[in-house]
Amino acid sequence: MLSLVNLAYLVAAVLFILGLKGLTHPRTAVRGNVLGAFGMFIAVVVTLLDRHIVSYDMIIVGVVVGSFIGAVLAVKIEMTAMPQLVALYNGFGGVASVLVASAALLETLGGHVGTAITLQFLIATVATGIIGAVTFWGSLVAFGKLQGIIGDAAVLFPGQKYLNAVLAVVCVGLGVWVVIDPSVTLAFWVLVGVASILGITLVIPIGGADMPVVIALLNSYSGLAAAATGFVLDNNVLIIAGSLVGASGIILTQIMCKAMNRSLTNVLFGVLGPTSETASADDVYAGKVKATSAEEVAMLFDGASRVVIVPGYGMAVAQAQHAVRDLMNLLEARGIEVEFAIHPVAGRMPGHMNVLLAEANVPYDKLKEMDEINSTFAQTDVAIVIGANDVVNPVARTDPKSPIAGMPILDVDKARTVVIVKRSLSPGFAGIPNPLFAADNALMYFADGKKAVLEMVAAVKES
Ligand code: NDP
Repeated sequence: MLSLVNLAYLVAAVLFILGLKGLTHPRTAVRGNVLGAFGMFIAVVVTLLDRHIVSYDMIIVGVVVGSFIGAVLAVKIEMTAMPQLVALYNGFGGVASVLVASAALLETLGGHVGTAITLQFLIATVATGIIGAVTFWGSLVAFGKLQGIIGDAAVLFPGQKYLNAVLAVVCVGLGVWVVIDPSVTLAFWVLVGVASILGITLVIPIGGADMPVVIALLNSYSGLAAAATGFVLDNNVLIIAGSLVGASGIILTQIMCKAMNRSLTNVLFGVLGPTSETASADDVYAGKVKATSAEEVAMLFDGASRVVIVPGYGMAVAQAQHAVRDLMNLLEARGIEVEFAIHPVAGRMPGHMNVLLAEANVPYDKLKEMDEINSTFAQTDVAIVIGANDVVNPVARTDPKSPIAGMPILDVDKARTVVIVKRSLSPGFAGIPNPLFAADNALMYFADGKKAVLEMVAAVKES
């Protein structure tokens, strides 16, 4: 029986890996998703059949309640709130790991049929308690920042790093105590409590443009917590699945750090925030901003041979992706070359713009990454920025004190004319003014993203 179970787990693990491989390319992503889900289905069914002692009633109640909440969330959630939801999911993964490890500890100490108290069991329980609690509370803070419940700027106070170091040392100390004498369950609960505080104090100082890195990192932590729980329960498939999530989360963190030109230590400990020296909106914009209209933009297209569209978070808010595709088709039909410039942290989650444009059937080869497209802006007649702000803010290149200092940006200011579509002069996620809007070659199109693009389409058809 055991070998059959392990064989099924092996099949599930292979499906997870094939699924991940599929997810690396848009064309195979749907198949990859199905393979991964099928692997998880096998893993769940086999685990349920293997554990004779569980009460199926409670599991069925759990599945029904969980499915109901999940379905309501999936239907109700706005596409723009997906990142917050992902942050919550990471957190739920962390807290689930803590609950499972706590239950296993209590069950084992109570002498119930369960896992034996081995060194592996105790170390894994402690690791789950720490990583799971940090993940849960860190993710709640990330959720709060993205949802705007708590300010998304960095929250700094003196001695923050020392406090974190002390909390981490206390966690390790309590962990050693639990391993030496697991009968003192209070030590485990205090450990979870201290790790919870650590989760909050680790994430609260990170803000502004660094949030994408934190979300990727918390995703990785949730995988590590699950892998540690796998060691608690001696469950191979949980160890493998958790490790895959942990490793892919770390790889994503690395990619995000590279995209922001920051090291991970710098993101976690070397916080930048808007300083008193950050230029005020009045200084940057007063008397220098020029507004434009659909007719004027249509005239610009008339004389253009190359147009680059730069989508950002505002395109997601406006759900303008279908209108944008129509504009692309229309311009191409007039012999204009159209490409999309995709910044790695545009929007509010990794791959946000790719997902939206794929949904609108924009061919994938039209989406160009920053490194590839930046050198072409100088030969671009019109760059249309739709709801992007931080990812085109030249301050990243010029002001070392800015919260986005050093972040590579899309060089739209090098295009002959830049049209920026947004509703007002409000700042983006990082909360700072953008001198691009006042540049000589920039025109502001003040409107909702979808409305503006539909107006441009109509004006081009009339011209
Ligand atoms: P920004 O957040 O910098 O700017 C978005 C702009 O969209 C705003 O200035 C807003 O201006 C405009 N906007 C909002 N709604 C609409 C609408 N309906 N129609 C038209 N415009 C609209 O977006 P970017 O994509 O440039 O940058 C992403 C930022 O988010 C970066 O700072 C990044 O670090 C951060 N981030 C990214 C994550 C990721 O994983 N990608 C995760 C977390 C944070 P206005 O109100 O005037 O319309």
